[in-house]
Amino acid sequence: MSEPPAPLPETNTHCPYCALQCGTRLRGDLDTGVKVQPTFFPVNRGRLCQKGWTATEVLTAADRLTRPLVRGSDGRLKEASWDTALDTVAEGLRTIRTEHGPDGTAVFGGGGLTNEKAYLLGKFARLALRTSQIDYNGRFCMSSAAAAGNAAFGVDRGLPFPVTDLRGAQTVLLAGANVAETMPPLMQHLEQARLIVIDPRRTPTARRAALHLQPAPGTDLALALGLLHVAVVDGLTDQDYVRERTHGFGAAAQRAMAWWPERVEEITGVPAGAQRRAVRMLAEAPSAYVLTSRGVEQHSDGTDTVAAFINLALSLGLPGRPGNGYGCLTGQGNGQGGREHGQKADQLPGYRSLSDPWARAHVARVWSVAPEDLPGPGRSAYELLDALGGERGPRALLVFGSNPAVSAPHSAHVTERLVSLDLLVVADFVPSETARMADVVLPVTQWAEEEGTLTNLEGRVLRRRALLPPPAEIRSELEVLHDLAVRLGEPANRYPTDPRQVFEELRATSRGGRADYSGISYKRLDAGEVLHWPCPDTPGPHPGTPRLFLDRFAHPDGRARFADVDFWGPAEETSSAHPLYATTGRVLAHYQSGAQTRRVAELTEAVPEPFVEVHPDTAARWGLADRDLATISSARGSMTARVRLDPTMRLDTVFVPFHFPHERRANLFTHPALDPRSGMPEFKVCAVRITPLPGVTS
Ligand code: SF4
Repeated sequence: MSEPPAPLPETNTHCPYCALQCGTRLRGDLDTGVKVQPTFFPVNRGRLCQKGWTATEVLTAADRLTRPLVRGSDGRLKEASWDTALDTVAEGLRTIRTEHGPDGTAVFGGGGLTNEKAYLLGKFARLALRTSQIDYNGRFCMSSAAAAGNAAFGVDRGLPFPVTDLRGAQTVLLAGANVAETMPPLMQHLEQARLIVIDPRRTPTARRAALHLQPAPGTDLALALGLLHVAVVDGLTDQDYVRERTHGFGAAAQRAMAWWPERVEEITGVPAGAQRRAVRMLAEAPSAYVLTSRGVEQHSDGTDTVAAFINLALSLGLPGRPGNGYGCLTGQGNGQGGREHGQKADQLPGYRSLSDPWARAHVARVWSVAPEDLPGPGRSAYELLDALGGERGPRALLVFGSNPAVSAPHSAHVTERLVSLDLLVVADFVPSETARMADVVLPVTQWAEEEGTLTNLEGRVLRRRALLPPPAEIRSELEVLHDLAVRLGEPANRYPTDPRQVFEELRATSRGGRADYSGISYKRLDAGEVLHWPCPDTPGPHPGTPRLFLDRFAHPDGRARFADVDFWGPAEETSSAHPLYATTGRVLAHYQSGAQTRRVAELTEAVPEPFVEVHPDTAARWGLADRDLATISSARGSMTARVRLDPTMRLDTVFVPFHFPHERRANLFTHPALDPRSGMPEFKVCAVRITPLPGVTS
């Protein structure tokens, strides 16, 4: 009798894409094919979206990077050994440091990196490179919500409650969140709720809403002020809550008095009656939530806009009251953890401030260096990219887990800056558009080949587990950082390559910080414990904190802060040359810059190219028909996309998804105006014109 076949390997892990971090079970190997099944993890309860179902295809992408590449004297990238590639990088970094100082080198990380990678990347930048120039693409994702949340509550955690709490909600206001397309499994938690959706487009989420408010792009702040006005004037505020749990209501309410609904209607286009109805729906529901997302955050006034929605939630007494709340729907897979552990320009691990002497002293002690050895805060993401290769800017850039050539605003300019560098190094597992521009490309592991942790949108720390061994020539980012650091003269034991060891150090470094992970361990996570931060290391195991703010907010006096904010309008208004608003966003089939999802056949078949959504009357006015190729141009640049007529679009607005490369990058036309507090670019509104593509007939 022949031996029964060996059982196929299998493991429980999480989807590699968005911050919902749906639970999955992987089974198989590269010979038999890797299969994915959803688990009954609380956020997805047995469901996945199209991206999650097809995620394993990226593991066998035909152009998977399998060997380091170094650009030769003929200008072409050629395969090289790891020693050659790493020696080339180290030599280049040493030369640039001698000629331009430590800030001559910059680091650009990603919100998809595990906690361990994000942590070690920040440590590497600040100790091995001694550079202040580190930031990451999460800056483009929810930095405005983070700034507003910190100011209001004293801490920033996307959702300060588990997703499953939403199941009991009667009313949920979704401001700039297209959940049905970007996080479909989340919709099952909203089935019982009456939805109020604020979005310039009639998205799949808006179609399910009891009330859709459709403001002009860039006017969300005026709308939020108007909603607070209604709450105050109609006597719908929770006065006891406001008095006992908050500060600053008077100034915020006074500011809102200038934003009566009819004035707001003139600016936003949202009928005054609909504004009043929305506030009543929230105020009269025993269980209500206000949730914000990229639509209101990705503006040059994004922080103030989120603050204005938090003002509304506070005035109604929602945050920190059981069965009610305010939260922000984080975007990237580790958007939450990625901004807590040190790859952000102004932060140290544990969500500590790089400008806080106590925080510097604590982290320096764990790292066995002097506090003065730690550089200060650096430039925010777009400012950093804008400075590359300039007179006072960095001359070298190391990119980990990001594709800024596609995802950054004003991307033709960013591409020029990347080209001007003396040294561009990209660590990735596929040849992204940024990797193709690099002098050295370092091939690294991807999700199903690695161990680590991520922190989902609820602040819950999750285990990523390996199903497969990585291809022979592939190294993890932890190994790459270790190998580079050693070449730069750092002690080898300062840069562990085992994720468990890195996590143990992260626990110590985060101890006492806002995002305290010191009570969390791989052992507890692998035993199935549900652990949301803060989870301090206490004598008896701390249970974690699934719900924040029930007794007090995180400010020293325990009270939340209203913000005194006002509306000024977007950075760029329409004109005769650029008479339409353009807004950008995501589609169900693709993720961020598309570097992964454009390599999945089912997803590229679903959405093979960018499109521009236009109202039929607007299209006719500019000489366009359905499926024509159109040029969308702003003062900064142009891109091409296929026309999709949609009678639910506003007449003054077009929409373009941003997942596509080269001349089809939506970010060729986006505006790089930055929010002064968060550094968030204004992805969601700019002025454009739309014309038929010359020489092309439909
Ligand atoms: Fe993955 Fe997000 Fe889709 Fe869930 S919703 S399957 S985490 S992309």
